Amino acid sequence: MQELSTSWPKVCIVGAGPAGICAAAQLKTLLGITDMVIFDTNNEVGGTWLVNTYPGCACDVPSHLYSFSFSPKSDWSSFYSPQSEILDYLRDVAKKYDLYPHISFNTTVKTMVWKEAVSKWFVEYAPNGTDDVTGKFFDVIINASGILREPRTPKKFLDFKGTIIHTARWNDEVDLAEKVVGIVGTGSSGIQVVPEIVDKVKQLFVFQRTAPYMIPRAQFKYPETVKWAFENIPTLRWSHRASLFYIQEILFLAFRHNSVATFMASSLCRFQRWFQINSDELREKVTPTFALGNKRTMVSSDFYPTLQKTNVELVTENIDKVTNQSIITVDGKEFPLDVLIMATGFHSQNYFAPITVVGEGSVNLMDLWKEQGPQTYLGVMSHTAPNFFTILGPHSGSAHNSMIFMIESQVLWMTKALSYMKDNRANYIRVTSDAEKEFMKLLERKLANMVWGNDNASNWYKDDNGRVTALWPSHLVSFWHNSRTFVPELFDVKKVDSDKEYNLNDNL
Ligand SMILES: Cc1cc2nc3c(=O)[nH]c(=O)nc-3n(C[C@H](O)[C@H](O)[C@H](O)COP(=O)(O)OP(=O)(O)OC[C@H]3O[C@@H](n4cnc5c(N)ncnc54)[C@H](O)[C@@H]3O)c2cc1C
Repeated sequence: MQELSTSWPKVCIVGAGPAGICAAAQLKTLLGITDMVIFDTNNEVGGTWLVNTYPGCACDVPSHLYSFSFSPKSDWSSFYSPQSEILDYLRDVAKKYDLYPHISFNTTVKTMVWKEAVSKWFVEYAPNGTDDVTGKFFDVIINASGILREPRTPKKFLDFKGTIIHTARWNDEVDLAEKVVGIVGTGSSGIQVVPEIVDKVKQLFVFQRTAPYMIPRAQFKYPETVKWAFENIPTLRWSHRASLFYIQEILFLAFRHNSVATFMASSLCRFQRWFQINSDELREKVTPTFALGNKRTMVSSDFYPTLQKTNVELVTENIDKVTNQSIITVDGKEFPLDVLIMATGFHSQNYFAPITVVGEGSVNLMDLWKEQGPQTYLGVMSHTAPNFFTILGPHSGSAHNSMIFMIESQVLWMTKALSYMKDNRANYIRVTSDAEKEFMKLLERKLANMVWGNDNASNWYKDDNGRVTALWPSHLVSFWHNSRTFVPELFDVKKVDSDKEYNLNDNL
């Protein structure tokens, strides 16, 4: 039997967003793995924080929490960071860990196919805008391609012939000055854009389908002395981060059925509506008609005041149709517009799109998941895909705390799995079907306590069949607890002979 080369594994990382950067940095630091290629469609690192450049784009998790524990930053400018500062931070991390030489920018991965005979993945990729497809073998795949990445524009809006922009593809060249502008959607992006553009435009129509819950945003700038203290007394910075983490964890309680925390969080939202809104009519329009947590809870203190400006109208009638230059609501009212902004979110259930992933037994993973819902262990491994780790895949999102914590927990677990393989000279790992089933049962049990799955809840956490697939249905501490150790008994780990040359013409 051939010995594994000491340089095993050759790793392919798809995506240079926060998850890809974290995975690459930790593979280098914790396992000394340097034989890796990171593919990204974009021309720079950052993922979400590179492409979302709409006015007001910012994190709604505190800055000190939305950063890697292994690469802290003492001088965050403010409690919540703007997009540009997060992007700079991610670039700095990529430089610090010398990741740029590994990245193939402007390159899109097209297919990933498991080749059983050699226990490797065959990855096909092409420079953007070409059909110049190249194929290479990799021992391990880390899929960090993100879930909030493909902008969603409902079909009827494509009939609009004026200027139309999606928040996730903002175009700075579109001049909003003195224009009549419509914005569709009052989700996380919509409520950030509205206060930023209101003073530029002539008239702003905000089209709202459902009124979200809105908790106040306690934004402030960190004084220079505090930044100095964070830099020179690291324990202080760590205590600050830890306290922020546990405060966010408490928010989770609000998403359980009939909890006291739900009552308290709803009361805080009610207080903000009462405190910030003068008109009963407007207050009624922005009062949610569903239980808190059924949809993502917003964090903003300037959205309600903006709605009361003289050049703003909140439109709550449903949209009937879109004509060349207008939106027409079901009551027949026409809103002629110069510019239409779509704040309509993402296709959140296309876990790999546009990549075709074909796992063991020639199973197309996305087809399988569409049929039965995503089945995974820790959201990271699927029984049908050996040596394939997804970071922030299904069941991994958080509606109450930092995604960076999830990314780090999953990456750490993955390094433990790879370390075990290296120690045992194995080149094949697959979660057992039983372990996957047990994990899915655990999810079901936890989900039963959560409001997200309510029948009347319409949110992006659910798939087309109404199953909540996007979120980890518990505290993040509990995810950490479940992922803190690698349990070999739950996996098939073995050495498969792979002494064939990597010959693309072989029928593997
Ligand atoms: C507007 C917005 C605000 C957000 N705010 C918060 C927040 O406040 N707090 C929070 O915790 N989370 C927030 N999120 C969620 C956020 O997406 C995650 O926190 C985090 O950015 C996910 O990182 P990622 O690396 O998994 O994915 P991404 O950041 O999406 O990166 C994925 C990368 O993969 C690349 N890629 C994808 N497919 C391919 C392919 N086929 N070939 C090559 N490259 C590919 C993409 O180009 C991209 O660079 C927000 C998301 C959005 C869109």
